[in-house]
Amino acid sequence: MAQLTDDCFAFDGPLMPLEAMERLISERVSPVDGTETVAVAEGRDRVMAADIVAPVDLPHFDNSAVDGYAVRHADLAPSGDTVLKIAGRVMAGQKAIPKLGAGEAIRIFTGARMPDGADTVFMQEDTREENGAVILPAGLKRGANRRLRGEDIPAGSVAIPAGRILDAQNLTLASALGITGLKVRRRIRVAIFSTGDEIVEPGLRLSGAQVFDANRTLLRNMLEQTGCEVTDLGVLRDDPAILKIALADAARDCDVVLTSGGVSTGDADYVRSAVEAAGSLVFWRIAIKPGRPVAMGVLPGADGNNAAFIGLPGNPVAVFVTFARVVRPLLMRLSGATTRPLFYLPVVSAFDYRKKSGRREYVRVSLKPGANGGYEAFKHPQDGAGVITSLTETDGLIELPDDVTKITAGDQVGFLSYASLVS
Ligand code: AMP
Ligand code: MG
Repeated sequence: MAQLTDDCFAFDGPLMPLEAMERLISERVSPVDGTETVAVAEGRDRVMAADIVAPVDLPHFDNSAVDGYAVRHADLAPSGDTVLKIAGRVMAGQKAIPKLGAGEAIRIFTGARMPDGADTVFMQEDTREENGAVILPAGLKRGANRRLRGEDIPAGSVAIPAGRILDAQNLTLASALGITGLKVRRRIRVAIFSTGDEIVEPGLRLSGAQVFDANRTLLRNMLEQTGCEVTDLGVLRDDPAILKIALADAARDCDVVLTSGGVSTGDADYVRSAVEAAGSLVFWRIAIKPGRPVAMGVLPGADGNNAAFIGLPGNPVAVFVTFARVVRPLLMRLSGATTRPLFYLPVVSAFDYRKKSGRREYVRVSLKPGANGGYEAFKHPQDGAGVITSLTETDGLIELPDDVTKITAGDQVGFLSYASLVS
């Protein structure tokens, strides 16, 4: 984070467009250095620190993809049945492989090594056995049902590139190649706080004007889904001196300090000034709804490095949206992950909507199958940024581009499922 510097977005200037923020992250934030080796069983959601080069061909040998009969294609009649004598049998795992002579077939099972001379395998369902011979129909292509050595991946080529986030599929490939240890980047360490005089730990008794802390649960879970190590530092009061000390302390042993609440323009919103006192502010306010008053800054961290600071708004829906669209890209960049672009599902809006130009807007919707095979998006009736059931009772978000001002029922819009936003 060392290169992040102040700019005009930090104060009461224009709102920072989401694209500008993404550019700032990719240009000025670099991945953390540390790596470690983990077992494949511990590898899920970790980020590869180096390429894995296939140490062997996969598959390691030519083998049959089906249970059936291995033959030479040259022995088959171009039309009508072919009858071949069954000259042997080969099972998966069998080392001694019978040879295939001219005019012969070998009984073979899925995964068994192909006999020398055989180039094609008939599925047993397509054949008939009679008196030690097999009757084969015409028309099968040369090479059918044969798996070639190295066809999945040849030895020496990159199987899993550096930067890839390890999921079940990639871990499966590592195991199939016989790999047991994976060199991954260290996890990103994130400290979280809630702020607000009214915020109370769930389980305690609420008095008059207090609310239970929802945001730390939201942040912890989204951070863990993003592969981070979370330090939960509790709730801070709306007190500038306490905030400043707590932010400075947290920054000393983590990569990112994340807060919610206290970044807007109310009289008790001290987070922004606390960041300026403890470090420096990079920008404040993003052109996004919900979630506009996001603050990003830097705080002096461990070993002369800087920790990144992100102050999210207080309302839980705003926390959710800004985590997905602001915090997560920063974490991905720090983690060294190569991210895929977001996949937008084209759906048909079932509602009319108006918005201001110059900001990206996210609408909580439920999907239902539409008339022509696609999906229709229905807006949740409550759009308040504090309405948590608007997140639990919907399927995802419609993203409305910065320059759009109006959506009419029947328009095509881009849908982002909740799952696609956090994994
Ligand atoms: P603020 O940005 O601090 O003005 O907070 C905006 C709204 O979010 C207020 O209604 C707060 O009570 C609410 N809020 C702030 N922090 C939390 C939290 N951790 N959990 C639930 N609601 C919160
Ligand atoms: Mg507050």
